[in-house]
Amino acid sequence: MSTLTVTCQVEPTSGKYFVSVSYGGLREAPPDMVQVDYDEVGEYLDPVEAVEMAIDLVENWSEDLGEPVYVSYAVQEGVPPELEELSNGVIVKMKNWANQIYMDMEKCARCGDLINSKDYYLIPELGSDKKYCSATCAERDYEEYLEINEEDTQE
Ligand SMILES: [Zn+2]
Repeated sequence: MSTLTVTCQVEPTSGKYFVSVSYGGLREAPPDMVQVDYDEVGEYLDPVEAVEMAIDLVENWSEDLGEPVYVSYAVQEGVPPELEELSNGVIVKMKNWANQIYMDMEKCARCGDLINSKDYYLIPELGSDKKYCSATCAERDYEEYLEINEEDTQE
């Protein structure tokens, strides 16, 4: 499950080009997507990465088009996107917004990486509030848990 999606868009009424950073996956992204071949377009689990990619994409796409490209972030399905020029102030606002989402997301109990909310690992003995990003992280914590238990029984 992705947190944010970066797409190239054209506003139907004004014909303005813009990069959209929308909540959810590609299915929830605005419908007027422009088919372009940029690596930055796509779904992201990490919101900070999504915003960095969107900023790069505005610059790259604008250079290739030879036309201004606007940006719209925090785009929600069914709500008309608000277009802004990519000024330093807007960049700061976008990064703060991404950081806030990042802080609110669940992290791996072992390494601190972001957790995909539909695809994570648990150790039944350690309870359901400890979630892990990978089997490796879960196994490492489980090994430690076993070691600690072993020490306890030896005392
Ligand atoms: Zn981890």
